[in-house]
Amino acid sequence: MNTIIKALNSENPDSVVIKEAAQIIQAGGLVAFPTETVYGLGANALNEASVKKIFQAKGRPSDNPLIVHISSKEELPPLVEYIPEKAKILIETFWPGPLTLIFPKSDIIPYSITAGLSTVAIRLPQNKIARALIETAKVPIAAPSANTSGKPSPTKASHVIEDLNGKIEMILDGGPVLVGLESTVVDVTGDIPMILRPGGVTKEMLEEAVGEVLVDPAILSEKALTSTPKAPGMKYKHYAPKAKVTIVDGELSKVIAAINQFTKEKQAQHLKVGIMATTQTKDAYKGDCIIVVGDRNHPKTIAANLFDTLRAFDEAGMDVVLAEAFSYEEIGFAIMNRLQKAAGYDIVKV
Ligand code: AMP
Ligand code: MG
Repeated sequence: MNTIIKALNSENPDSVVIKEAAQIIQAGGLVAFPTETVYGLGANALNEASVKKIFQAKGRPSDNPLIVHISSKEELPPLVEYIPEKAKILIETFWPGPLTLIFPKSDIIPYSITAGLSTVAIRLPQNKIARALIETAKVPIAAPSANTSGKPSPTKASHVIEDLNGKIEMILDGGPVLVGLESTVVDVTGDIPMILRPGGVTKEMLEEAVGEVLVDPAILSEKALTSTPKAPGMKYKHYAPKAKVTIVDGELSKVIAAINQFTKEKQAQHLKVGIMATTQTKDAYKGDCIIVVGDRNHPKTIAANLFDTLRAFDEAGMDVVLAEAFSYEEIGFAIMNRLQKAAGYDIVKV
């Protein structure tokens, strides 16, 4: 298949290109498009055959449900059985934005989207290209991240091209994304909302809006790989680069010393060593490939660059990657969740 690739201005997308993309969705095809979190791979959510194509193109396990994207709050009621009171507050506070909510599904949502579950995940994104596409297609759009399953999520169109060129009808290039980590997933079907996947909307932000918020204990550690997390996707060892990633956690000066020591040991075994450094620490290392993931004083920069950095170590042909750990506070919780998955939960405490 010849994949059409079109660049768009994310503030003012060309309506002719959006129309072309919307027609592909209406005809049952697949279009990759930017959202503020990561790039999504979209299909008509109400068409079972189109939804199945998403799983094929990504190589996604069929027991991992998809998020349905809408372009306005008015599009929500037909897709769900009812809207819980606390969900109404979260919608008013955080939509449009990087927050996905889990509702009891209505009958028009096919089970291929929900992987057989009676609940459905829904999000109203902020990105103007995403919203124009959904609005013009006039259907809700099912869209997981537009990567090959198991690879880091795409935060630039070039990542999507690397994984899906030739497998889908169209890629809309809206430049690098804003947040860089997938949306926060919150289950609002119980009395107290529960975070199933941490993301850009933090626990602290959610609690300020609705009071107590729980965290699915299965996502906090490698338990996610063996127990049954409530978001089925969390059990997969996602976000893994080809290189073996190890996280080094502790006081920063000790982390630097340990990473330099490990680097010498690995290099003695003729392994190529990549180091994931920060603005504050980059000059303290001597690896084969040192990449600054962001600024420790501005954790959002780390979130925005994390997946691109993991892909870059693969492009540079590194065998191992040594990564500094970050604080688990606020956005740090989502960063460390993704980094732990990339490392297969290999963390050295120093
Ligand atoms: P992705 O589309 O790659 O960002 O992954 C979507 C995430 O949302 C995965 O972790 C899914 O398991 C989760 N998810 C989607 N639908 C549901 C649902 N009905 N219940 C719980 N988690 C869900
Ligand atoms: Mg994904």
